[in-house]
Amino acid sequence: SPSIVWLRDDLRLADNPALRAAIDRDEPVVVLYVLDEESDGIRALGGAARWWLHHSLADLDTRLRDRGSTLVLRRGPAARVVRDVVADAAAGAVFWNRRYGGPERAVDAELKAGLRDAGVEVASFAASVLFEPWTVQTGAGGPYAVFTPFWKACQAMPAPRAPLPEPREIPGPAAAPASDELDGWGLLPTRPDWAEGLRETWEPGELAARRRLRDFLDDDLADYDRARDEPAAGVTSNLSPRLRWGELSPYTVWHETVRSEAAERHAGPAQRFLSELGWREFAWHTLFHFPDLATRNWRAQFDAFAWPRLKPTHLEAWQQGRTGVPLVDAGMRELWRTGFMHNRVRMVTASFLVKNLLIDWRRGEEWFWDTLVDADAAANPFNWQWVAGSGADAAPYFRVFNPVLQAEKFDRHGSYIAQWAPDSGELEPLVDLKASRQAALDAYEAVKRAR
Ligand code: FAD
Repeated sequence: SPSIVWLRDDLRLADNPALRAAIDRDEPVVVLYVLDEESDGIRALGGAARWWLHHSLADLDTRLRDRGSTLVLRRGPAARVVRDVVADAAAGAVFWNRRYGGPERAVDAELKAGLRDAGVEVASFAASVLFEPWTVQTGAGGPYAVFTPFWKACQAMPAPRAPLPEPREIPGPAAAPASDELDGWGLLPTRPDWAEGLRETWEPGELAARRRLRDFLDDDLADYDRARDEPAAGVTSNLSPRLRWGELSPYTVWHETVRSEAAERHAGPAQRFLSELGWREFAWHTLFHFPDLATRNWRAQFDAFAWPRLKPTHLEAWQQGRTGVPLVDAGMRELWRTGFMHNRVRMVTASFLVKNLLIDWRRGEEWFWDTLVDADAAANPFNWQWVAGSGADAAPYFRVFNPVLQAEKFDRHGSYIAQWAPDSGELEPLVDLKASRQAALDAYEAVKRAR
């Protein structure tokens, strides 16, 4: 009886333990992807994410065909769809790699129980994070709330397992279960086609992801420590969408980095880069223990913050990069064009929204969710709450980024602003930086009193 591999955030053949388990079972393998926009609590993908997903699935299908298999695409509530495919394929086993969001875990748990009751073998694996959230605990047995001790605890654990090699052959079933057409899913924008900048910037897919990792280690890691905060330097890995979609496994990134010649010569930058992967782990740790991270303040006393009535024109000016604050406008335009923004600029644009425009962090999180190709259910709300001051190990609320000083420090030659928003300096600033900062600090008094 065939085995089913249900792929989710792990669109890859290499280091895919669920796929490996299916192949090792020595029966035909059905590789399934389900577009689930219906199960309770599942967050619909944003536009840029849908674009990436389309291309990544197309790439994966080609790679599967080269190995004797194909990708089966289905749409609908995942638990029902997977059961349908089990019936269609007369499958005897289902394998997947684990997910850590609340609604996703509920789907997986229910499905696992139902399939086992029906006599179908089910097994799940760790593949998307290096340290599964429940394995890292404080002395008191709870979740970590601060990054540094969290990451120390991770480093004291057994090192992440070695990545699994890519299978050369994947024997498909004699007759594959019916599949949707990828083009029929409508994941790509039509009118207007806003994806030109995405096409120019990115090549989704597993091989491109691995190439980028190698190039990063060879060419950029040495300068990572020194220049990672400079948006024009181009020394960060740009691996975030690849990790988000699982085209690259964090185990592969970890081991290739540790083993690389560059890491031998540049131990400091390598440790720094690995600790950024640590922030990704910490974001998932936080989401696992606090599933409402995208909608609720992690620090409850922030519920006392009285957001003023939303000014839609301010939100739009921010989204469109027309605030008259050059570094903010450059970042927001880079985001709109490429589906990406440099980390330093993400912090500055987010801080400006929350602490100068006094707009609720959730509005910003939603915009990033819709426009980022790496929009991540953990990292996005985690970092928004970090900037807003309401999150785990967050920047204190009263530390307000000054976007002018940030530009002087991290875009010294003005090349990032010149590339993305050369006209911004001529716009009338939407708000006075000093006065709006003070208004934010005054509003924060209510949170302090709520302690
Ligand atoms: P590198 O510097 O090369 O870092 C390597 C990897 O570490 C990244 O690919 C990423 O997977 C991880 N990483 C680095 N920094 C962080 C961080 N602060 N939190 C979590 N993981 C991190 N990252 C996302 O992947 N998805 C998001 O939706 C997202 N939203 C963000 C929203 C805001 C407001 C802010 C301030 C940051 C956000 N980040 C998000 C984190 C960070 O900006 C990006 O991961 C990073 O810019 C990606 O570029 P890179 O791959 O070149 O990073």
